[in-house]
Amino acid sequence: METWKKNLREIEPYTPGDQPNKAGMIKINTNENPYPPAPGVLKAIKEFEPDKLRLYPNPESLPIVEALADFYGRKKEEVFVGVGSDDVLAIAYMALFNSDKPILFPDITYSFYDVWAKLFRVPYRQIPLDENFRIKKEDYYAENGGILLANPNAPTSISESLENIEDIIKNNRDSIVIIDEAYVDFGGNSVLPLIDRYDNLLVVQTFSKARSMAGMRVGYAIGNPVLIRAMNDVKYSFNSYTMNLPALTFAVEAVRDKTYFEDTIQKIIRTRSWVMDDLKKLGFSFPDSKANFLFVTHKCCPAKELYEAMKRENIFVRYFNKERINNYLRVSIGTDEEMKKVVVFLEEYLKENNYI
Ligand SMILES: *Cc1c(COP(=O)(O)O)cnc(C)c1O
Repeated sequence: METWKKNLREIEPYTPGDQPNKAGMIKINTNENPYPPAPGVLKAIKEFEPDKLRLYPNPESLPIVEALADFYGRKKEEVFVGVGSDDVLAIAYMALFNSDKPILFPDITYSFYDVWAKLFRVPYRQIPLDENFRIKKEDYYAENGGILLANPNAPTSISESLENIEDIIKNNRDSIVIIDEAYVDFGGNSVLPLIDRYDNLLVVQTFSKARSMAGMRVGYAIGNPVLIRAMNDVKYSFNSYTMNLPALTFAVEAVRDKTYFEDTIQKIIRTRSWVMDDLKKLGFSFPDSKANFLFVTHKCCPAKELYEAMKRENIFVRYFNKERINNYLRVSIGTDEEMKKVVVFLEEYLKENNYI
């Protein structure tokens, strides 16, 4: 072997969901929002002057930091912005997880968590969820170098109570607890109000799901100014201008339009509700979802078979070939029209193949 090859980093990367691009497809595999960004965003895009791209953007991402601080009633020193919450979380690993003790997160959760742990050489321990995919809070009272929980969790869609999450934070005052709230706006319970009481709590959210801007790559964290400063110190040691000017400009408009944000969420929640009723009638079961997706399993039809059949119909859902969850599909909530087609297809397929 050539000697230089010994210097290559070997790491198994995170595998994102497919991004197919087929005419007429129903793409419900990566939990994107089926509705467009707020009207103010579209207007700002049309009015954007390309000449502005000559200059570097604001290195502190101030326009969006201030808009978020305003929206959540926080100080700007309590807000960190990054290129999607993936970037925010990666920086949080570097800035906040520097103990020799393992960080803790569930065995079934966002599959990026162990990838970052390996990338940044942070020791970690995955704690099994119980048989109903619930967190046992006492598991997180063990000695640790930090805790990371998605709430609602992905891909299970389950939201844990504020009391349980607060108990975990309370019992871990010596380590940093990060709550990834990518889906919280769809009915979960945010721990944001707790940051005044717990200086070891960091809350991470994103524009990719409830704010319809996955393609723009904007995420943020809110927490104690000491945590935010540590994250900014890492960010400025790495790349000062991570947030590009269009993203900074357009994301502000998404935050300003609170009515559109809330209406879009309500539409998705209403769709989720009838889809749950219809899928139950077809023999599916799933946890009570507080996210913009369902985590479904069928009483007779194997998930992998259904995944392939849906794919042939240009209906893309997510299948995880992973122990404990390999008979489940994660189905994002699309528009009413899309979901009606999905339900019609499922009913036909299950009947034709004598599964119901
Ligand atoms: C989608 C998602 C993210 C990442 O979102 P970004 O697009 O990078 O903001 C982070 N955590 C969870 C649990 C997610 O589902």
